[in-house]
Amino acid sequence: MSEEKKGLTRRGFIAVSGASAGAVLAHSGVAAAEEKPKEPEAPLPQVPRRKLGKTNETVPILLMGGSMRFDQRFDPKFAECMRFGLNYFDMADCYAGGTSETAMGAFHTRMKNRDSMWITSKSDEHEPAGFVKTVEQSLTKMKTSYVNMYFLHALTDTSYLSPELAKTVDGLKKAGKIRHFGFSCHGSNVAELLKHAAKLPWVDSIMFRYNFRQYGDKALNEAMDAAHKSNIGLIAMKTQGSEASFEKSWKKFEQAGKWNKFQAVMKAVWADERISAAVSQMDTFEKLKQNIAAAVDKSELSQVERESIDKYAAATRHLACDGCDHICNPAVAAPVQIGATMRYLMYHEVYGQDELARELFHQLPASAKALEGTDFAAANRACPNGIDVAHHMARAAKLFVA
Ligand code: SF4
Repeated sequence: MSEEKKGLTRRGFIAVSGASAGAVLAHSGVAAAEEKPKEPEAPLPQVPRRKLGKTNETVPILLMGGSMRFDQRFDPKFAECMRFGLNYFDMADCYAGGTSETAMGAFHTRMKNRDSMWITSKSDEHEPAGFVKTVEQSLTKMKTSYVNMYFLHALTDTSYLSPELAKTVDGLKKAGKIRHFGFSCHGSNVAELLKHAAKLPWVDSIMFRYNFRQYGDKALNEAMDAAHKSNIGLIAMKTQGSEASFEKSWKKFEQAGKWNKFQAVMKAVWADERISAAVSQMDTFEKLKQNIAAAVDKSELSQVERESIDKYAAATRHLACDGCDHICNPAVAAPVQIGATMRYLMYHEVYGQDELARELFHQLPASAKALEGTDFAAANRACPNGIDVAHHMARAAKLFVA
């Protein structure tokens, strides 16, 4: 069995405790299928909600990520989310080769519950004309006349947030095709993008890379403060601060209370009042159960649990890539994309998304895929986090190129 599969299975065996968590387990669709009908069930615990910035609407603090393959006829994970009040689904035009959006369309048309769901999707086209084209395609694929929110996907350049795009967004809102607008970002200039957006009244929400490794990051905190002050709804993503190698580092987390590493770091993000919600790729019922259990439980992390996260962050610092490849790429003679490749390794090893990782790697330009025979020693020296880039690129070559 592969290392990542072992890791995910192990996660599945971690016990969750506490009254709310117990209720989630008892009410799980999977568990229910194995039980005989009993007394009428108590109402299910519901994921708490927070206001999402300028949208003036509330969303659950836990959001369902859509970067995975769903059942194209009816995906029961969507239904399980809805049972616990988790009604926000985060799609994108490119997720799972475009099939996430079609699965979403199939689900709500079968359930006839479009208006009780919040669907966000994203465009990889950042110019106004391409953005409009993608919105139209998403509406068709998701069989809906509107999306609750539409994002520029993985934005890295502030110049796309242009007056022309502002006019386009306004037109789409007036036409009732999108209700709210924003962008997602996870590259090296997240802080710059947040600060810039804080000055733009037409940006309603931002989904950005934020996890326990960054709590002391001064520039990011200032940018988050500015965006929050401007009433931009902040959504955290990539909250697991994941490492490029799962099994070894996972063992470094010393569970100090009732929450495992995956749950503890989510609770740490929710403890930040600037954050409205955190998105999670919950591709198994076990992950759904664990995350919902953490979300519905009102207790805060103890000091000892917080220290456990800090210790874990320190012990795994040399394994977690921040995507700042403007630092390490120039040190290598070939036009490689170290940050992206490290991210795909993480998808493969931490999230178990083998197919997605391969698909994304193969979408890189041919020159960026030429990992074998490239000398990464200088990138090792350049990385401020002490990441063994050469080692991970060799692993990526074996996994994705072979
Ligand atoms: S390997 Fe190091 S320098 Fe390169 S993107 Fe990752 S964290 Fe940044």
